[in-house]
Amino acid sequence: MTAETVPTSPTLPVTLSHRFADDLPELALDWQAETAPAPQLLVLNQPLAVELGLDPAWLRTDDGVRFLVGNLVPEGARPVAQAYAGHQFGGYSPRLGDGRALLLGELTTPDGTLRDLHLKGSGRTPFARGGDGLAVVGPMLREYVVSEAMHALGVPTTRALAVVATGRTVQREVPMPGAVLTRVASSHLRVGSFQYARALAGGEGDRHPDLLRRLVDHAVARHHPDAAHATDRPGGPALALFEAVVAAQADLVARWMLVGFVHGVMNTDNVTISGETIDYGPCAFLEAFDPTTTFSSIDEGGRYAYGNQPPMAEWDLARLAEALLPLFHDDEAEAITLATTALQGFRPRYSQAWDDGWRAKLGLADEAATSEAAAGVVDDFLAILQTDHPDLTSFLVHLHAGTARDHVLDVVTFDSWQQRWESLGPDRDLMERTNPVRVPRNHLVEEALTAATAGDLAPLGPLLAAIASPWGESADFQAYAGAAPDTFGQYTTYCGT
Ligand code: AMP
Ligand code: MG
Repeated sequence: MTAETVPTSPTLPVTLSHRFADDLPELALDWQAETAPAPQLLVLNQPLAVELGLDPAWLRTDDGVRFLVGNLVPEGARPVAQAYAGHQFGGYSPRLGDGRALLLGELTTPDGTLRDLHLKGSGRTPFARGGDGLAVVGPMLREYVVSEAMHALGVPTTRALAVVATGRTVQREVPMPGAVLTRVASSHLRVGSFQYARALAGGEGDRHPDLLRRLVDHAVARHHPDAAHATDRPGGPALALFEAVVAAQADLVARWMLVGFVHGVMNTDNVTISGETIDYGPCAFLEAFDPTTTFSSIDEGGRYAYGNQPPMAEWDLARLAEALLPLFHDDEAEAITLATTALQGFRPRYSQAWDDGWRAKLGLADEAATSEAAAGVVDDFLAILQTDHPDLTSFLVHLHAGTARDHVLDVVTFDSWQQRWESLGPDRDLMERTNPVRVPRNHLVEEALTAATAGDLAPLGPLLAAIASPWGESADFQAYAGAAPDTFGQYTTYCGT
């Protein structure tokens, strides 16, 4: 298999650097995107383009669209497929990597930050194994919709710059229109990158003696620069990096839990070092509150169920610690002690974020929030959610509006709870700022993706407008605020599509 040669242009209004490929050649395989026979822009994220310093008008031109699918690259760019390993549903795969994705390069935004420009669905790479290297319109639009919703909700995430239909038919259960997602991330470093580097460094003698260290340095410089100063501490910068990732992931997963997001594939190759949510496959938002909820067709054991997400993140972080052990201490027992202590930081950090988040959602600020009564009120509210399974998002909106009582089964318990809650003087404005009215509702996402797959983009625009504006009731977006009708039934989503 060889990569096609992609035209470069010295005149494109974009500059891409290749620091990842330069710093970590062992993890970067030079590769090119497959040519899209008839690329057609389906959706462009105009505000994100501007934020990145890209001209939206240019991105809509033929050259711009070819750029968005990797078929025209600026001179000096060096697209690569990234190598990584990963535990998938608990089982280790030593060589995953970008089977259908490419890092086009890094872009420096007008405010000076570095962002990865990445393609998904850009053709087979040497990491493709049995896969066709391609992606189809529905799932790429799902990533666009859900990642933009997460961004609007204030949850750290990769972003979607565009989805381009390639004009190629892709064989799935039935033939589907192919697409490429152009993705932006603060980086694509993941736990699996470290697992891969560790295996390479360990397995091939001294051919890559400093690979793990270089990867740590690269990650520290890019995401957690304070860790570089930890040279005099036990464990050094590598341990400080690990602690920073533990904190970032604990905060991230708490944010997911507070908005009812179920990722669906928390494999170690899908857990970032930056603390951004990545790889929106079989993900969806919870409607009825139930910790056992899964949406993924392949997650039969419920490994990545809503309520399992915090312990699964902790499990993934333990794999990161294992990969980094040799850098924590020369003595393995000492290294394990340092790693264990650092990992123990996950639970209190997560609990704090979850508790703070719930107090805010219930409008408990300042003195009200720190009182002992507040803790009981939060716990008892969660117990009501657990027994009555209301739609998480709209129930909190009803609570704010004073109509939640109409949506519980056990009115007596709710009334006595509500009385205690009201006595704490909940701050209605704080509630409005912390309880979204609009999340991507599964039935509406499905409707928009089905239509788009059939060539009708009409429902997508209003859906994107609604999820870009999650806060505050709005007459314009009424249809986007409620749970799916009962006729929608059990929602199932699929991986690797
Ligand atoms: P994911 O579950 O999307 O994170 O993907 C896990 C691994 O499977 C990654 O190494 C992907 O590159 C690879 N992969 C998923 N779908 C395909 C495909 N259609 N062709 C090639 N590789 C794929
Ligand atoms: Mg992945």
